[in-house]
Amino acid sequence: MTVTLNFHGAAGTVTGSCYRIVHPKGQFLIDCGLFQGNKSVRDLNYKPLPFDPGKIDFVLLTHAHIDHAGLLPKLCKLGYRNKMLMTEPTAGLLEFLLPDAAGIQESETERETKKRGRRGEAPAEPLYTMEDAVETLKHRTTVKYGEWLEPGPGVRVRYWNAGHILGSASIEVEVTNGDGQIIRLLFSGDIGPDEKVFYLEPDAPAGFDYILCESTYGGREREDYTLVQRREALKTEINGALQRGGNLVIPAFAVERSQELLHDIGLLIKDGEISPSLVFLDSPLASKVTGVYKKYQAMFEDVELGADELFNDERFRIVEAVDESKAINAIKGGAIIMSASGMADAGRIKHHLRANLVRANATVLFVGYQAPGTLGQIIQSGAREVRIHGELVPVRARIRSVANYSAHADHTELMAWIKQRLPAHGALFLTHGEDEERTALRSSIIASGGLAGDQVILPLLDDAFELRAEGVSGVHRPEAPRIDLSQMSSDWHNAYASFIIDLSHLLKEAKSDARRLEIMAGLKAELAETAEEPPVPQVPPRAGPASGEIHGEPSGE
Ligand SMILES: [Zn+2]
Repeated sequence: MTVTLNFHGAAGTVTGSCYRIVHPKGQFLIDCGLFQGNKSVRDLNYKPLPFDPGKIDFVLLTHAHIDHAGLLPKLCKLGYRNKMLMTEPTAGLLEFLLPDAAGIQESETERETKKRGRRGEAPAEPLYTMEDAVETLKHRTTVKYGEWLEPGPGVRVRYWNAGHILGSASIEVEVTNGDGQIIRLLFSGDIGPDEKVFYLEPDAPAGFDYILCESTYGGREREDYTLVQRREALKTEINGALQRGGNLVIPAFAVERSQELLHDIGLLIKDGEISPSLVFLDSPLASKVTGVYKKYQAMFEDVELGADELFNDERFRIVEAVDESKAINAIKGGAIIMSASGMADAGRIKHHLRANLVRANATVLFVGYQAPGTLGQIIQSGAREVRIHGELVPVRARIRSVANYSAHADHTELMAWIKQRLPAHGALFLTHGEDEERTALRSSIIASGGLAGDQVILPLLDDAFELRAEGVSGVHRPEAPRIDLSQMSSDWHNAYASFIIDLSHLLKEAKSDARRLEIMAGLKAELAETAEEPPVPQVPPRAGPASGEIHGEPSGE
């Protein structure tokens, strides 16, 4: 029997990381993450898992981010009761992240149930509940970096620092096939940049049969920067925003980004470089996570504040209470307001955006990746109006972005990480990236001579590869794909929302009511004609030449 590697997430998209290895003595998962992004992608969370959770012997978790760990409670809801292996800080972060994720699921379900009730439909079923999250936490088993362990027969694993967030790991896996041959794999997890506060560069040995590498920024180059230059850029943005007289709103991930910003803002205040009236971190989750960071601060590198000063300044307001959060809306200028979620698709940040986007003297600063279809990405792309909590909000605030706070390695750093880990005798799989990004990374790797074209593979969702130490011996594609691949980056829901906004603009700007009626009549006639035409077959975008070579033509073409 061969060893089979299945890609159940982060294949053709950034989110939903989940890989499954089936070997003669059992099967196990590496990560079990939530799908995030447009509605078509999020719907994947509710579909049946493409494997039997009862057959999974253990889960290896790379880090605590929800797109890597957020479906673990679903696994437990479906009866999974075995071990989940992770570093100690990851276990500490999950303590708060999973109940928070469950809380979001429960409140979203409540809203959906109300909506359905008005239409006389049956109540919605939550993806998972708080009870499932609490059950999940019982199965955390901690591991140390650099130590071999045997989580099950025929499998050895070792965790390495990935320099991405607190507790993040790349995972080395050795698994024995039916012929007694040992297959060596490395799962990158998410890889941090070289210059990053809190950690040293990512770590892991070299020489594998298979390497799986993330490619979030596979085609993008950040400007070269040092930690000092990055702080300088933040200082410029903060001072620019405060000079306009309004507030500065920063959507920030509760984990890592919020703590990095608190570190840098604290240092800038201490050095007299900026002078905001108040600095809010408005997120109960970020507040708890900051506590976990304090607990593990002895592990940190590159920290320029003393233990008492870290995350601590008299102007800092770390907010948990709802009343205190609501009171922030009354502040019209001079404050820095950081809040989650980082992509503005949920959480308290939506309230702060609703209050500040309409203010012409306010600034919104994006400091991280915005997945296609999220509110953050829509604002960042220059929308003049956005929908928040069902209301149309005009965008009058200044919209800014700085790229250097990403917790991900960029193109050059990913290339360096891969080169340092070679050889990969069998293949390199590029995952966890939009197709544009991973295609660019693939081309560079081949051009650099590190690997041959057929050795750099861009797997699609639910593809399964039979692995032998010398190379891939078989490829299987799912008969019925869980998602239409053409809907991965921007789906029809996004197109519909932007169409409605454009239409309302067109009508608002028309000179008279007669003209408005004319526009609508013309549109109606046009729509009737379009609807009559036979549907044009949609060709899903190809994932680069490798997918064609390896998989044959994508089904459904
Ligand atoms: Zn991550």
